[in-house]
Amino acid sequence: MKAIPFALPSTGKEEIKAVKKAITSNWLTTGRLTQQFEEAFAKKIQKPYTLAVNSATAGLHLALEAVGIAPDDKVIVPSYTFAATAEVVRYQRAIPLFADILPDSPLIDPAEIEKLAKQKGVKAVIVVHYAGQSCDMQAILSLCKKYNLFCIEDAAHAFSAYKEDSEGNHIYLGTQGDIGVYSFYATKTITTGEGGMVVTSHPQFYERMKVMRLHGIDRTIWNRYTDTKASWEYDVVAPGFKYNLTDIASAIGLAQLKKSDFFYTRRKEIALQYFEGFRQLEEKGLIELPQNDFFHSWHLFPIQIQSQKDWQKNHRKRTEMMQSLAKRGIGLSVHYKPLHMMSYYKTVGNYQPEDLPNTLDRYSRSFSLPIYPSLKKSQIRYIIKEIIRLIENGS
Ligand SMILES: *Cc1c(COP(=O)(O)O)cnc(C)c1O
Repeated sequence: MKAIPFALPSTGKEEIKAVKKAITSNWLTTGRLTQQFEEAFAKKIQKPYTLAVNSATAGLHLALEAVGIAPDDKVIVPSYTFAATAEVVRYQRAIPLFADILPDSPLIDPAEIEKLAKQKGVKAVIVVHYAGQSCDMQAILSLCKKYNLFCIEDAAHAFSAYKEDSEGNHIYLGTQGDIGVYSFYATKTITTGEGGMVVTSHPQFYERMKVMRLHGIDRTIWNRYTDTKASWEYDVVAPGFKYNLTDIASAIGLAQLKKSDFFYTRRKEIALQYFEGFRQLEEKGLIELPQNDFFHSWHLFPIQIQSQKDWQKNHRKRTEMMQSLAKRGIGLSVHYKPLHMMSYYKTVGNYQPEDLPNTLDRYSRSFSLPIYPSLKKSQIRYIIKEIIRLIENGS
């Protein structure tokens, strides 16, 4: 069996054709295609306001700026996430407060949010729909109301999972808080190479983020060249950022968006194949699988090895297993080394690994399996077989 990569983008001739057309048009940066991408995305997720940005990191930063996060404010974030979720808090010179996850899931624990929300100066919470699994938004939104916090959803993993409400409307994951942010990084569920989308229902946040996305200028570049007003005439209302998405990237995004339902179906199929393949190991208590929540985009498929009650031992065992599976050509990854264990955040908050016990436990026992639309049945079978062999026979 040829080596199986951990992740692969699903791009093909449609994307190539779209990029070629974008380049031939001679309009390379933010323009008509980006506007079309924003409109198509808004229609898909049924939100009035969408802003294409050059990364989800940029989008999260815009979101914090728009809700007014200022120096020394506090923002609750999980530690069990990618660096971007917390670094944007530091961009605003605010302080991230790391919340633990639930004991039986990789998602932020609402009780932990409530504990931290009682501190002085807490203004917002950023929740992460880890792997594409929905956080408990009902509990989180009611806490945000109670403690007067903004809710920002780091939905980098979450597109295009949805659930149906009682009237059959699709509620997309990432659209329930004040602002949601999707990522189109190369390995995410849809990609533009680098890119992201910010979504909100609040016109005032939308207007602010739109201005701050491009140097604090009060008109977009495109309008500058198409409006009847002189193209050089614009005002700078704040020291903004350079977070706009190019039309080349948006061309890829439009092609990917057309395929997103197919991608979502494929990911769900692969997840089901893993559930079936690992059922016996799970029943024997030898591994733990993700919760099979239908409200899930399946960006990641993490599994956990049996606990030996000591995180360093678990960590060693997990790492050894990953090494033997790598030798058999299976690409794996760990999501994530917790942020409160990183040298920078240790100095910001004086954290010890054991301060967030559920995060530490899950980190030390987890690794993520390949899951992407082009993964073949034979590859999935091989991955399952090799993991079963390794866990049951230890070889
Ligand atoms: C990928 C990712 C981001 C950042 O996305 P970019 O588009 O690369 O900036 C943020 N949060 C999480 C949880 C991610 O996985």
